[in-house]
Amino acid sequence: MWNNWIPKKVGMVAWRAEKDRLPTREALARRGIDITDASCVLCGEYVESSEHLFVACHFIQTVWQNITSWCKTLPIIAFVIRDIFGLHNFSPGSRKRKKTLQAISHIAIWSIRKTRNEVMFNNAQPNVIKVLEEVKSLGFLWVKNRSRELDLSWEDWCRFSVFE
Ligand SMILES: [Zn+2]
Repeated sequence: MWNNWIPKKVGMVAWRAEKDRLPTREALARRGIDITDASCVLCGEYVESSEHLFVACHFIQTVWQNITSWCKTLPIIAFVIRDIFGLHNFSPGSRKRKKTLQAISHIAIWSIRKTRNEVMFNNAQPNVIKVLEEVKSLGFLWVKNRSRELDLSWEDWCRFSVFE
């Protein structure tokens, strides 16, 4: 799943999320750390596991819906993180488009984790639009600078029209 259009640290977070190696509350409790409240910091309704935080949480489902509508792909039907990372394989289009979709799915995981940490440690309010804007702007910065073969403008990127 290595994608060289994103920084290595971003790919690592995506990889760790898929392998359930991020310190979610559920993961910490499993390691015997005393967690007084294991609930998701975004919705407060379910235990914060990796699958919940990145896939099942209703806040995050709205993030994924926004991303798929921006990228003009089919809605994601995901049960595990691997389903999200497989998105590009089931989307028609060029190799560049698939690689871009894969990069975006990894950046989204990065951004969701960052949002979760800001809510948890800085009492920030989770905001779907803010996550989406961050995925768009980081994605543009990274993909434009690293892909070299793509001549991207911000307008093309926002319309996601350049890859068809
Ligand atoms: Zn939740």
